[in-house]
Amino acid sequence: MSRRILILHTGGTIGMVPSENGYVPGANLGELLADRLGGRQAELPRFEVQELDHLIDSANLTPSDWTRIARPLIDQWEHYDGFVVLHGTDTMAYTASALSYLLRGCDRPVILTGSQIPLGLPRTDALDNVTTALVLAASEHIHEVCLCFRGRLLRGNRARKLKTSGLDAFDSPNAPALGRAGIELELRRDLLLPPGHPDFQLPDMDANAVAVLALYPGIPARLVEATLALPGLKGLILHTFGAGNAPDANPALIQALADGIERGIAVINISQCPIGGVSQKAYASGAALDGIGVVAGGDLTPEAAFAKLHVLLAGGVQGEDLRRQFQAPRAGDSTPATPF
Ligand code: ASP
Repeated sequence: MSRRILILHTGGTIGMVPSENGYVPGANLGELLADRLGGRQAELPRFEVQELDHLIDSANLTPSDWTRIARPLIDQWEHYDGFVVLHGTDTMAYTASALSYLLRGCDRPVILTGSQIPLGLPRTDALDNVTTALVLAASEHIHEVCLCFRGRLLRGNRARKLKTSGLDAFDSPNAPALGRAGIELELRRDLLLPPGHPDFQLPDMDANAVAVLALYPGIPARLVEATLALPGLKGLILHTFGAGNAPDANPALIQALADGIERGIAVINISQCPIGGVSQKAYASGAALDGIGVVAGGDLTPEAAFAKLHVLLAGGVQGEDLRRQFQAPRAGDSTPATPF
């Protein structure tokens, strides 16, 4: 029996139409897709298209949209063999990461894709992305959340948007691609996750729970204090220098972080470098963070770290448990730490 795929349209350039103020999300993508695919549809896996009630430009995404996207997938999990999620490219890596944590124990393909040029335009890259995603969503070998773009299959929680206008906009700088669409579709079956046992989570997400702060040369301690004083804040992701370093010559800044941690705020260390991970013991400037209880984020992408922290906090995880669960690789999101 042929496999059946659900395409969930959430918004993004792929379905956008021109307006006076530039591109805005447009509905009825299913009709447009059928029209553009024409006779080719018969050669693809069977699919149905569902649209979220409120389509968004993904720049407007908030963490509660992750549950809005996960819910229809979970509700219809048993009715389909695989899922394609059409999403704006701007925050697709965040949603791919969040879905990899919410859809715990995933046992079938969930493939996110979108496009840099709308489906309705002549030079669109959407058809190539959607048809490849559909074929991958019908694969019996994929049991995880992936992102497929311009012929490359990436692990969702390892993917990043690296190009603003190139059609090959995504890559996974800290992990190899899981597959490639050339003349043949090649899957790295040695890298793909084994099937899990679904144990899905749909906690209420609170956008105020997590903040992100990028360090920069000369950053004042008061900016760190003000961020840590945000109402409802439970976790802060610091984008640090190099291998996880912060200005330890600014004791007020380190003290501000220590005070926040003392008040129960989880502070996570993620490097500003796109390649490699955090090693808090390599330099004294990193050791200062280690000494006050900052959690080293390994080689998680900033997007995965943000989603993972949100999902753990929304699930009520805190303190040492949070450190342990945050640092433990989940759904292939990170490389296990090796002692420095
Ligand atoms: N702003 C759009 C979005 O993220 C960009 C895109 O889809 O390429 O929804």
